[in-house]
Amino acid sequence: MQPTKIDHIGIAVSNLDEAIKVYEALGLNCTGIETVEEQKVRVAFFPCGDSELELLESTSPDGPIARFIEKKGEGIQHLAIRVPSIEKALVEMKEKGIRLIDEQPRYGAGGARIAFLHPKSTGGVLIELSER
Ligand code: ZN
Repeated sequence: MQPTKIDHIGIAVSNLDEAIKVYEALGLNCTGIETVEEQKVRVAFFPCGDSELELLESTSPDGPIARFIEKKGEGIQHLAIRVPSIEKALVEMKEKGIRLIDEQPRYGAGGARIAFLHPKSTGGVLIELSER
């Protein structure tokens, strides 16, 4: 499936405004904030070289980010790998016996088409495949 780069790293934060200050202190610029209703998340984008950091704040106590923070605390939540074709990547992963969370691509922040692989199949890392 020839991944082309690390698209972004998703970081779960409990307070987006406070977290933004930390990454701005690092010299990075926030290029936008988007709410993805379907995933109950507010996302701040910080391009860094050829990749990006995404800060993720839950918009609801029952959202996936809120549940992640409840279980594991704030921190790195997922790793996104850019692929040229998400459909092809999903077929290939399935053939190789990797468990999928998303059988079909869905809408991701920044207009990407995304799908998650199950961390039980990937050594505990939540991997997102991303096509833009
Ligand atoms: Zn992501």
